[in-house]
Amino acid sequence: MQGSVWFVGAGPGDPELITVKGRRLIEEAGAILFAGSLVNEAITRWAPADCEVLDSKDMTLPEMAAWLIAAAQRHTTVVRLQTGDPALYGALIELVQPLDAAGVPIQVVPGVSSAMASAAAAVESFTLPEVTQSVIFTRVEGRTPMPAGEDLATLAQHHCTLCIFLSITLLSKVQSELRAAGWAEDAPIVVVHKASWPDEQKIIRGTLADIAQRCRDAKVVSQAMIIASPTLGARHWPELVKSKLYDPSFTHRFRKASVPTPADNSPASPQEPV
Ligand code: SAH
Repeated sequence: MQGSVWFVGAGPGDPELITVKGRRLIEEAGAILFAGSLVNEAITRWAPADCEVLDSKDMTLPEMAAWLIAAAQRHTTVVRLQTGDPALYGALIELVQPLDAAGVPIQVVPGVSSAMASAAAAVESFTLPEVTQSVIFTRVEGRTPMPAGEDLATLAQHHCTLCIFLSITLLSKVQSELRAAGWAEDAPIVVVHKASWPDEQKIIRGTLADIAQRCRDAKVVSQAMIIASPTLGARHWPELVKSKLYDPSFTHRFRKASVPTPADNSPASPQEPV
């Protein structure tokens, strides 16, 4: 028998934030290997009673690969549950390669990244018209070195939205690199700890100057997303440049303008109004 291994994004913590497809695969799984340090174990409760369920937190990568390969000889559906989305900081390719070498078919099911769950928790938008239209997912250098040109001081020069993973213990480095990139001391920063985890989520709001102290005061030292963005706090701004898509003077594929189009409001392409 040759089963498949599905790499399933478990989402950020709240079991309800897994995809419908991910949940169905868990309900059908003969074996599940989950990243217990970050995935909410509650998600594995949807597994059939006779499903083999193993926490990978004490396993090495070769042990995990060997377990998945063996499980795929016994079961049609094997699930590797990863936190958030498997494409971000998840050692996906390192696990896929040995499975490819063993001839085990694999597929990936995306998940809600903690970056998106953190924005949702804090009611923030990563993009705002005429403020920033770009988002960088990054981290600062810890044991994993940063490739040339990707240090935060360089990336932050764009002054767009930064979602900084894996860096809460390196907040002072985050601060000094943002300063080096010219961010102001009163630039807003939001740190979200355990975004979406029922009863455990914490949202810490501060500025470049005081965010580290605020996180220390709140005892946030792990599992946190650092968001630095010129969009933060926009919910309370009195003046907002509105998205052209919903502007009454803007015509697009699905709606004709209800008021005349001002000259500066013409879309570059009538097919792609955003
Ligand atoms: N693939 C995951 C990221 C794994 S790396 C994703 O898409 O979210 C682990 C890092 O993700 C943590 O150090 C932290 O920065 C972030 N993280 C994971 N879960 C989180 C959560 N529920 N709330 C805030 N940050 C989280």
